[in-house]
Amino acid sequence: MTESDQSAAAAGRPKVATERAIVLLGAPGAGKGTQALTLAQRLKVPHLSTGDMFREHVARGDELGRRAKAIMEAGELVPDELVTAMLAHRLQQGDCAGGCILDGYPRTLGQAQALDQMLGGGRRGPIVINLRIEYNELIQRLTGRRSCPKCGQIYNLYLKPPASEGLCDADHTPLIQRTDDNEQVVRERMAAYEASTRPVVDYYRGRETFFEVDGSGTPEEIAAALFQVLGRAGTQAEA
Ligand code: AMP
Repeated sequence: MTESDQSAAAAGRPKVATERAIVLLGAPGAGKGTQALTLAQRLKVPHLSTGDMFREHVARGDELGRRAKAIMEAGELVPDELVTAMLAHRLQQGDCAGGCILDGYPRTLGQAQALDQMLGGGRRGPIVINLRIEYNELIQRLTGRRSCPKCGQIYNLYLKPPASEGLCDADHTPLIQRTDDNEQVVRERMAAYEASTRPVVDYYRGRETFFEVDGSGTPEEIAAALFQVLGRAGTQAEA
């Protein structure tokens, strides 16, 4: 056992042999957020969602939030230098030393190159998993998505409706729709994905640490497939 294995075992978390960043790629609505949360909980590493970080800045109304707000509402991408500076700052915090799950970053070639630099010039590049899913299913997932502003539980009007229309099952709080989940903005976000993020998939394809997983099953099926892939990638997690 290496020293880091021992400290992981002592901390009671599953052994993460590679201690590397795990990048989840996929179109908006592919399930990156849900799966990133599951992976982060089971591997006991931080879940870094650049979309969530921006939403926090917007909610706080700070300088970065003011700059990102209109761009996000239009379904466009925030400029690379702003996103990368924000993420670099987060990656330097101590809790990322044992690995992390990246959700929503990188989204452009420039960001992918910047990430390789941040992780040590590509020598300890990320484990990358692309969640593949069909366009029509994505549209349904996104436009039907609702969430509870109180507990964060996510529903879908078509696929996972709440028991009482419009109300959270757990606490009966009225559900809300993300402002960028309406159909018009969803189409913009898909266009941004096709133009900017598809090349990121090609950037990683061919690396030994690039994998693809079918994102069309249930969240449990997809999680199982992800853990299988991570096993192959040399990362072991408790079942
Ligand atoms: P998400 O929650 O990941 O779908 O992100 C919501 C929005 O935040 C996106 O539509 C972008 O406007 C912005 N955003 C999040 N991550 C990035 C990124 N890596 N690069 C550029 N914009 C981003």
